[in-house]
Amino acid sequence: MKRVGIMGGTFDPIHLGHLVVANEVLNIYGLDEIVFVPAGNPPHKCGMGASFVDRYVMTCLATLSNNKFTVSDIEIKNKGKSYTLNTLKEFHSMYADTEFCFITGTDAVINLPNWHEPKELLKICKFIAVSRPGIDKEDVKLKIEEIRRDLNGHIEMLQIPMLDISSTDIRERFKNGISAKYLLPESVEQYIFKNNLYR
Ligand code: ATP
Ligand code: MG
Repeated sequence: MKRVGIMGGTFDPIHLGHLVVANEVLNIYGLDEIVFVPAGNPPHKCGMGASFVDRYVMTCLATLSNNKFTVSDIEIKNKGKSYTLNTLKEFHSMYADTEFCFITGTDAVINLPNWHEPKELLKICKFIAVSRPGIDKEDVKLKIEEIRRDLNGHIEMLQIPMLDISSTDIRERFKNGISAKYLLPESVEQYIFKNNLYR
């Protein structure tokens, strides 16, 4: 049985926070692979977000050196709304004999009841929620207990070395001409400059 972690996100842009999360989960759970899935419909409304293609390319650049990291374009191939539930169902049909877990930060997992069909989603996939700075650990514990109870799902909390990095902050830095060096891979930084993203 192959064991694969799914790391969903807008990755607008991908940064070292994402990569540390993926690598920690890969090692701690002894997974075979982590698939990064850039979201098809970025929720940013301010209009300064990058296109799917740019986010996809940046995710490929960032994960290039790790042979256990792969990137999926599933959420752009599927026209219309890209719900995590549909994406996971598709992964299930594409990979035989594979067990999946979905990886999120604690900021995302507390919002799980508002996702599309959360009960169904938790039925087909285990969730791993990793610590993220700025999110109170005790609040998260209570919230996860509540979700486990209401939705009957399997959610594990994992403490990892925390990096206070967000794509929102990185976009702001590029917009304002402030250095984001060392917060994201150099290749991604160069791609952003070369293609004039987030200006
Ligand atoms: P934005 O500021 O645009 O929301 P983000 O930095 O939160 O960007 P996302 O693409 O929204 O990045 O996040 C994808 C997943 O990675 C989410 O589950 C999120 O919780 C997690 N994540 C992002 N950054 C970190 C971090 N620094 N530490 C732990 N988890 C993180
Ligand atoms: Mg986010």
